[in-house]
Amino acid sequence: MATALTLPFEVQAHPAPVSDAERTRLIADPGFGKIFTDHMVVVRYSVDKGWHDAQVKPRGPIAIDPACAVLHYAQEIFEGLKAYRMPDGNVSLFRPEANARRFADSARRLAMPEVPEELFLESIRAIVEADRSWIPTVEGGSLYLRPFMFASEVFLGVKPASEYYYMVIASPAGAYFKGGAPAVSLWVSDDYSRAGPGGTGAAKCGGNYAASLLPQSQAIAQGCDQVVFLDAAEHKWVEELGGMNVFFVFEDGSMLTPPLGTILPGITRDSLMTLARDAGIAVREERYSIDQWKADAESGRLREAFACGTAAVVTPIGAVRGTSVDFKIGNGGPGVLTSELRAKLVAIQRGEAADPHGWVKRLF
Ligand SMILES: *Cc1c(COP(=O)(O)O)cnc(C)c1O
Repeated sequence: MATALTLPFEVQAHPAPVSDAERTRLIADPGFGKIFTDHMVVVRYSVDKGWHDAQVKPRGPIAIDPACAVLHYAQEIFEGLKAYRMPDGNVSLFRPEANARRFADSARRLAMPEVPEELFLESIRAIVEADRSWIPTVEGGSLYLRPFMFASEVFLGVKPASEYYYMVIASPAGAYFKGGAPAVSLWVSDDYSRAGPGGTGAAKCGGNYAASLLPQSQAIAQGCDQVVFLDAAEHKWVEELGGMNVFFVFEDGSMLTPPLGTILPGITRDSLMTLARDAGIAVREERYSIDQWKADAESGRLREAFACGTAAVVTPIGAVRGTSVDFKIGNGGPGVLTSELRAKLVAIQRGEAADPHGWVKRLF
């Protein structure tokens, strides 16, 4: 199918947008994922027509048939990235091409059509342009963008659907944690794994999240903040949290993060590895067992551990518990290198520091 690289977006401005006063009130303390902007992007796909009907329109419910494939077989993928207001008032994105590429990778794994990179980037630009007044001005604020795609064919047969919706919604976000990130406690899941070899662990699909909810509830029931998953084959190697990658920092100043394969290839993970290496820090992508983690934390060889992802950026890990482990990391609070790397990355994202890798894409 010869699909155009991008499409003209028909822009239909909201006839009755949220008032200036109400919007100002909402974005003063937006929290995360609770409030939404006035518009949304909708693009349709069919095997016959390819990508077509690109629209920016008033945000609202969409009508789908009860036999819509996504409701039965979960053929769905998504992305998450942020638009930032720069010190000069311009608006920028952080590595959006990486999100576009990962979205295409996820699409291939879920047997869905790829959204061409140009169309993906244009859809992001279009919604940010329509809703730029929703970017919070509060310290640490951003406009969280959620591109997603789902199978919309009306058919109960099990096969890749022939029709899809690609959409983007936007949600103003405050600083994920007010007053800096507090250290979280992790629960090691005994009963469940997030992904297995050959599975969908490297794809950003809703199904992975559905499977993580029960173990996450068990973590909460155990008094922990987040679940940490071990590999499915040996139940030994640390993989990641339900929605964040993990890093370990050792007494010799080196860092380690689990290798790609069954984990989600985080853009924050990749960016932090690059920033650490820029600073002369040795970073290994190697398997790390839960037993080694415990031994190193207890001996003091491990100094810090943290989780990372777009939403919360960097979150220190203070303690790890499970049926056979219970240990603290460092003094149980945020580590020095963890805080430094977080500050470095945030400063680049917000245009407050030089951008040696050309990660920041100015929109307008
Ligand atoms: C999105 C996601 C991450 C983090 O990826 P970023 O690109 O850094 O936001 C990590 N793990 C999972 C399971 C994810 O879905």
